[in-house]
Amino acid sequence: MSNSGFTFRRVREEMIENLLNMGIKDFRVLDAISQVPRHIFVDEALWSRAYENRSLTIGYKQTISQPYIVAKMTELLISHTKARGKILNNVLELGTGCGYQTAVLSYFSENIYSIERIKPLVSKARENLNELKIRNVELIHGDGFVDWDNKKKYDGVICAAAPREYPHDLVDNLNVSAKIVIPVGSSKSQKLNVINKISTEEIEQDLYDDVSFVPMLPGKSDDGLDS
Ligand code: SAH
Repeated sequence: MSNSGFTFRRVREEMIENLLNMGIKDFRVLDAISQVPRHIFVDEALWSRAYENRSLTIGYKQTISQPYIVAKMTELLISHTKARGKILNNVLELGTGCGYQTAVLSYFSENIYSIERIKPLVSKARENLNELKIRNVELIHGDGFVDWDNKKKYDGVICAAAPREYPHDLVDNLNVSAKIVIPVGSSKSQKLNVINKISTEEIEQDLYDDVSFVPMLPGKSDDGLDS
């Protein structure tokens, strides 16, 4: 690990260039992504591919999301803001996985609450975020359909697994102008949805890229064998 910063610098720069070419425009997002070493989130055997725009296995039949998708979802989540730094207060993430998206989000919100249904992945994410000294994240082993705190108001929600419908009950817990960025659909056809709370009474739903996420499954698991 000691010289990995040096070793991976060039491929990390290439990844950022690729993201720019693929249409990611928000420099705040590109900046955060350039600061998060993606290789530490995957097994050492995959390090040589860690900066390619692909999802990679993290065990338990789950994957780390493609850098483009992480960038796109983050860009959509913060697009109503212009300032730099920690522009949001509370962000909820459903589907922590190995914690890569969580690490990127930690640059934009004072607090991140991230829920993962597979217990060993919660531990893995905790180790990864500790290694990067990221401290503003609360990791929760639970079911993202129900285990978020309904006493909190969120300034944004990112979901990394696909339900059949967006979680309507979360809308009440969004602050005005907050968004839920979420893949919605079946294993055959999913689209990235943005649910924007435009006033206390109204939402707007916009559809973006075709995507391919793992399904959002109910209940939590101690070993991921039901995934
Ligand atoms: N963005 C993550 C990718 C996570 S993959 C990363 O960068 O690593 C999606 C994750 O969602 C998987 O780990 C899966 O176990 C989890 N998941 C699926 N259904 C869930 C649910 N109901 N609640 C919480 N997590 C869930």
